[in-house]
Amino acid sequence: MSLVDLLHGDPAEELGFDPEELKARYLAERDRRMREDGNEQYTEIVEEFARYDDDPYTEWIERDPVNDEVQVAVIGGGFGGLLMAGRLKEAGFDDVRVIEKGGDFGGTWYWNRYPGAMCDVESYCYLPMLEELNYIPKHKYSFAPEILEHSKAIARHFGLYENSLLQTSVAEMRWNDDAKRWIISTDRGDTVRAQFVAMANGPLSRPKLPGIPGISDFKGHTFHTSRWDYDYTGGSNEGNLTGLADKKVAVIGTGATSVQCVPHLGKSAEHLYVFQRTPSSIDVRDNRETDRAEFDKLEPGWQQRRMDNFNVLVSGGDQDEDLVADGWTDIFRNLTGIAAKTASRQLGRRLTGAEKGKLMELSDYKKMNQVRHRVDEIIADPATADALKPWYRQFCKRPCFHDEYLPTFNRPNVTLVDTDGKGVDRVTETGIVANGEPYEVDCIIFATGFEVGTSYTRRAGYDIIGRNSETISDRWVDGMRTMHGLYSHGFPNCFFLGFTQTAVTVNVPHALNEQAKHVRYVLEQAREQGAETVEVTAEAEQDWIDEMKDKAKLGQRFYAECTPGYYNNEGKPGENPVGFFAGAYGAGPIRFFRLLDEWRENGRLAGLVLD
Ligand code: NDP
Repeated sequence: MSLVDLLHGDPAEELGFDPEELKARYLAERDRRMREDGNEQYTEIVEEFARYDDDPYTEWIERDPVNDEVQVAVIGGGFGGLLMAGRLKEAGFDDVRVIEKGGDFGGTWYWNRYPGAMCDVESYCYLPMLEELNYIPKHKYSFAPEILEHSKAIARHFGLYENSLLQTSVAEMRWNDDAKRWIISTDRGDTVRAQFVAMANGPLSRPKLPGIPGISDFKGHTFHTSRWDYDYTGGSNEGNLTGLADKKVAVIGTGATSVQCVPHLGKSAEHLYVFQRTPSSIDVRDNRETDRAEFDKLEPGWQQRRMDNFNVLVSGGDQDEDLVADGWTDIFRNLTGIAAKTASRQLGRRLTGAEKGKLMELSDYKKMNQVRHRVDEIIADPATADALKPWYRQFCKRPCFHDEYLPTFNRPNVTLVDTDGKGVDRVTETGIVANGEPYEVDCIIFATGFEVGTSYTRRAGYDIIGRNSETISDRWVDGMRTMHGLYSHGFPNCFFLGFTQTAVTVNVPHALNEQAKHVRYVLEQAREQGAETVEVTAEAEQDWIDEMKDKAKLGQRFYAECTPGYYNNEGKPGENPVGFFAGAYGAGPIRFFRLLDEWRENGRLAGLVLD
């Protein structure tokens, strides 16, 4: 098939399917799922639902409140916090304290221990600081216990345990302008004064429940996947959930989490009902053991090179070599770089923006046809196969990669309950009602994800009170206000890591590492200049907000045509100033990382006031 014919001939003839028909089907599937309440549909885990946030993994340890001062407090002990604290320690900032709600380091990987949990970006890129710790992951995609252990190893490597406060939630952060210190109060009665604070709260950390009536009426057992109850299910991340052998189990949700735990639930439960509103796209995983010899021969700096190579490829760029060569790079190679390059060679000129867009759309349709075809190949029952097919473009939702999820639906003890886009109706004392039919179960597992698109402070669980007693919740009421996602005017010496007006990458730890290195540079400059405070000017902040707005338009049309989910603010893209991609720099991570590099090279600390 010639790409030129594809662009300028009759695509239906070239492709063997009619793209217009497919597009109409996608839009119809979206429309069926649109709902007025959008992101408001979910149930917040407060009051009677607060227990869904309890930590089932670490016994509560009593301790006396702490009242002291540190140079840098890092809020959050996940990858962001570990990278931040580690990079500072490397630069000789010794007085660093991590404050973490969980009973240990690890963040996402502390909380998400469900059976089958694993990273779905290649581990050699995903696990931070592999060279610093001289560690090579056991598999191409690591399982959760190994990632949790690696998180703890980073904490040990940098001596973070000694000074940290675990099982401790921040209750308030208040700037004292006379002392030039942040005063951090916690739920343990601590008062920690800190010159600098780095916020590494994590973007998807607060579990949410489906917005359905009756959850509290259920008399059986329930929990959220990010607080897995192994006391009830038995087994481990490797499965063997013996406690479920005589149980009828319901799982609500079919996102990336469900895709990983359903195979184990299917193997162990007497009967498993999987309640589906929208199917995920499930491509090939092909996990394998690491060939250690391959890594032993690599030159130092290999991890950064691999991360950069991956980042360029999954940001639509081109590289001579694809070092990762997996489902992610395959998608992007087809959707962007190489397809466009080939077409342009055939045409003898550069493609126009419209031609590139069309090519991407057609490649996307082809890719998703493959994904749907894979369902037909694996699933025995045609009606179940039909229900498991995703009808939307690849990046409307998080793409999933798994080789055991689909075959689970061929088991006689597993039932897919497809709700035709509507979701389950309600929970009763004895089970779930969906499509008007009751399903009696012993246990309901909520694989319904995490809060996205609610305010920063609601997700963090506390407010930040800056200069002149202004709260961050007030200051960000109409959306985040930062420069480079890192600093906000009126909140001196406070650095925001994560998804705050910054680059969003497929490989999240890559972006966190770039942010941590950047903050380290700023603090080194402050140290060199003997400055006590670092603050962004109001003008520089406004410039960044304007730049963010300008670039934000890039993705909005794409997401408007998507089936609802947290990527598009539940079907209302652009309507939520704190929605998932509202914090994403529209020109992409390559441009963003270059921008930070250039800012540092420039050496003027433009936009910051060091005092
Ligand atoms: P998601 O938000 O992706 O999925 C929630 C699921 O719950 C969706 O299938 C949603 O359906 C469904 N749902 C919500 N309400 C209802 C309802 N009323 N009735 C029926 N179904 C309902 O959460 P996940 O925990 O799966 O994943 C969150 C994110 O975490 C991922 O997108 C990914 O970024 C990350 N993750 C990463 C992993 C990794 O790297 N290894 C593994 C797991 C997660 P619908 O689609 O219709 O909204």
